Amino acid sequence: MGSDVWVIADHAGGSPRRITLELLGKGRELADARGGRLVAVALGHPLDGLPRTLGEYGADAVLSVEHPHLRSYSTEAYTEVLSGIVRQRAPWLVMVPSTAWGRDCAPRLAARVGAGVVTDVEALWVQDGRLQARRPMYTRKVMGTVEYVGDGPHLAVVLPKVFAPAERREGRTADVEVVAVQVPEPRTRLVETRSLQRERVSLTEAEVVVSGGRGLRGPENFALLDALAAELGAAVGSSRPPVDSGWVPHDYEIGQTGKTVSPTVYIAVGISGAPQHLAGMSGSKYIVAINKDPNAPIFQVASLGVVGDLFQIVPKLTEEVRRLKAQG
Ligand SMILES: Cc1cc2nc3c(=O)[nH]c(=O)nc-3n(C[C@H](O)[C@H](O)[C@H](O)COP(=O)(O)OP(=O)(O)OC[C@H]3O[C@@H](n4cnc5c(N)ncnc54)[C@H](O)[C@@H]3O)c2cc1C
Repeated sequence: MGSDVWVIADHAGGSPRRITLELLGKGRELADARGGRLVAVALGHPLDGLPRTLGEYGADAVLSVEHPHLRSYSTEAYTEVLSGIVRQRAPWLVMVPSTAWGRDCAPRLAARVGAGVVTDVEALWVQDGRLQARRPMYTRKVMGTVEYVGDGPHLAVVLPKVFAPAERREGRTADVEVVAVQVPEPRTRLVETRSLQRERVSLTEAEVVVSGGRGLRGPENFALLDALAAELGAAVGSSRPPVDSGWVPHDYEIGQTGKTVSPTVYIAVGISGAPQHLAGMSGSKYIVAINKDPNAPIFQVASLGVVGDLFQIVPKLTEEVRRLKAQG
């Protein structure tokens, strides 16, 4: 089995997304420890300047797979292409971003190539020559350490914002290899995408997240959170009830069945702190909870708790942030 570490790139419009840079940062360290190369794998159509950019972020080599059937993600096409090149080239480790497509593709890819797969990875290291990973388990009640058995290939589906992003060095180059593949025509076809409303900070990449729960009582009151988030440069999220009630779109949801976020600051407003919600946000560095019930479970994980009526507290908080910003 080989020694190379692969990063499957997540990208948009020819640019790598932040999670790709995080994987390249960690991948560099692991490839050096293993004595292998750091290889970025770019699938899509067109890829434009992506392979060159991946080199600037530290990839030693880039496998560039461009094909019209890879224009948008499809389970079949991605699995077919990735399993073919993994089998052929036998990397030691394949790092997959924990995005919607990454989570969809990785288990299938693992099954095809006979690899061990660990999802929700928050840490990766080598101990006594074996690769180990840390991941939350049982809706984040415990952290588990998982050891990969055998020589690889190993698959790690890595959460966003757990590793420091690689730094860009202009002029740094990678060996770019254009890989010719047969890509079967997928049995489903993406006809159209419509972006969901609002210009807003991406939930999974935001440093600060303001999140609302059932305590907000209705869709109109999310305006309170929008105002606070605008002052803080934060993203707005929610627990499940506001999504189920149609107050906010589905992509707001944080938790077991929603997104996993790990911002520096998470402000939970009118959220009780059910285990399924905590599963998606308890990795945040600081948690601020605003809730009128002093016994709400959210206070058990909060770094700072405010017991009181959100309808009074949130506007005051927004005003205070505005005032402090005006003072410079
Ligand atoms: C299989 C499964 C998967 C699930 N996945 C998810 C998931 O991904 N994400 C998720 O969030 N949930 C998920 N849930 C639902 C979860 O169990 C909880 O029901 C949900 O998280 C509760 O949301 P909440 O805290 O907003 O509402 P509640 O539990 O109803 O809490 C509302 C809180 O608001 C407070 N409040 C009310 N009025 C005010 C006020 N004026 N000022 C201040 N505080 C106020 C209350 O004291 C209360 O603590 C899942 C459930 C199941 C069974």
